[in-house]
Amino acid sequence: MADNRILLRMCRMSGHEMRFIEEAFEGEWVVPLGPNVKGFEEDLERFLGEGRHVVALSSGTAAIHLGLLGLGVKEGDEVMVQSMTFSASVNPVRYVGAIPVMVDSEPSTWNIDPELLDHAIEDRVRITGKKPKAIIAVCLYGMPADYDRVMEVAEKWDIPVLEDAAEAFGSSYRERRCGTFGHFGALSFNGNKMITTSGGGALVCPDGESARKAMYYATQARLGYAYYQHEEVGYNYRMSNISAGIGRGQMIVAEEYIAHHRHRQEYYRKHLAEIAGIKLHDNPDSRFDSNFWLCTALIDPDLKVKGQDKAYSSAITSTVGGAGGVTGQGESIHTDCEPNANVEGLRLGLAAEGIESRPLWKPMHRQPVFSGFPSYVNGVSESLFHRGICLPSGPYVTDEDADRVIRTIRSLIQ
Ligand SMILES: *Cc1c(COP(=O)(O)O)cnc(C)c1O
Repeated sequence: MADNRILLRMCRMSGHEMRFIEEAFEGEWVVPLGPNVKGFEEDLERFLGEGRHVVALSSGTAAIHLGLLGLGVKEGDEVMVQSMTFSASVNPVRYVGAIPVMVDSEPSTWNIDPELLDHAIEDRVRITGKKPKAIIAVCLYGMPADYDRVMEVAEKWDIPVLEDAAEAFGSSYRERRCGTFGHFGALSFNGNKMITTSGGGALVCPDGESARKAMYYATQARLGYAYYQHEEVGYNYRMSNISAGIGRGQMIVAEEYIAHHRHRQEYYRKHLAEIAGIKLHDNPDSRFDSNFWLCTALIDPDLKVKGQDKAYSSAITSTVGGAGGVTGQGESIHTDCEPNANVEGLRLGLAAEGIESRPLWKPMHRQPVFSGFPSYVNGVSESLFHRGICLPSGPYVTDEDADRVIRTIRSLIQ
C-alpha cells in the first residue's frame, strides 16, 4: 500500500528550484534576504498586479500578524473574522491581544456572509460602543469571498479588510487576483499550499510605505543606526533567501499547477455526477474563479455509505500518513460537533484503500480555544462541516489516481 497511496495534497518541485538555490550558494547568499527574496517578491507583484507591493515572510500566519499590526489592531480591540477557516486566520488576532468575533458563512461561497457581517458589526457597536478594528475575510479552499458585498459592508462601516488568501493563490474574482482586495492580503507558501517555499508566506500591501513598515516589524523593528536602535517590539519574520529560491522555481510552473487543480475538480465533478448524494463545490457564478486548492464536496446526509454505522465506534482512527497529510495516528477523540457518520465512513473506506481524504475545516466558534469569544452563527458553517469532505488534489494526483478515487467512492456507496 505504501507505494500507491494517494495523499490529499503534496507539493511538487518543478525542477527549476535548484538553479536559484545554487545561485544563492555561489553568491554566499545563504542568509535571510538576498537576491532571491527580491526576485520572488517581484514575481509575486507581477502575478498579482493592481500595483501591489509584496513582502516575503516566514509564514502566512506571520503575514496575518503583520497585517493586523499594520492596521493598528491593539489589545482589547475587536476583529471580525470568518468562522469557517483554518485556525491560522484567528490565532494572530490573539497574538496582538485583540478579541476575535466569529462570523458564519453563506452557502454559495462558504465564506463570510456579508449580511450577517453587517448585522454583527452593528451589534458589536451597540454592545461595546466602538467599531471593530478590522475584518478578516478568507477565500476558503480557494473560493473567493463575494468581494462586491464584503467591501460594501466594509466601506459602509469604514473598517479595513485583511484578506486571508492563503488558500487562494491564483484565484480571482471579477478577473482580479485574490490577495489584492483587502487593505492587506496574506499568502501562504506552506508545504501543502498551491505553490511552496517549503514554508513561507507574504504580505500583500497597498503601497511602498506600508510594505516598508511591514518589513521593519519583520526584522526586529530595527532602526538604521550602526548600533541598532529599537523603539518598538519587532519580530523575526523575513523569508530566507533559500526559501525564496524555491518560490522563484515554483513561480515558473504556478499557472500550470493552478490549471491542474481546476481540471481535477472538474474531473471529479463530471465522473461523480451520477451519484445523487455527492455534490462538488463550484463557482457560484461567472464572477468567481476558484483555484480549487483542495477538491471539496458535500455528502447528502441521506446517502448511505458502507461502514458508516461503525464509523465512530472504532477506537483507533484509520489514517493514511505521510508528508502533506495532517491526520495523526491515535485514538479518535469524540466531540459534540463531528462530521456525519456517512462522511466519516467514506473517509475510513477511502483510507482502507490507501486514499487520504479529510473533513472540512471545523468552524472556529466550535473550537474549544475560541468558543468563549463572541460569534454570529447561522448554521451554515456547521452544516458544511458535517457534510463536507476534501478529496485528493494537487500536481501529483493524475487522472488515473482520480479514477481510483472515483471507483473507490462508487464501491463505498450502498
Ligand atoms: C495555511 C493557512 C494559513 C497560514 O499559513 P502558514 O503559511 O501555514 O502560516 C492561514 N490561513 C489559512 C486559511 C490557511 O489555509
